[in-house]
Amino acid sequence: MKFFNKEKIIVETKCRECGMEFSETERMLRHMIKAHTKKKPSCNC
Ligand SMILES: [Zn+2]
Repeated sequence: MKFFNKEKIIVETKCRECGMEFSETERMLRHMIKAHTKKKPSCNC
């Protein structure tokens, strides 16, 4: 038996933080970096 599933498709295109779904994993990662990377509560006073 031969399997042609050499390439694994990355299914993680859903943001864990807010649950938004993206067409590409890279976009999801970029979203997470932009939207959820801010750990420090920035105060713009
Ligand atoms: Zn998110």
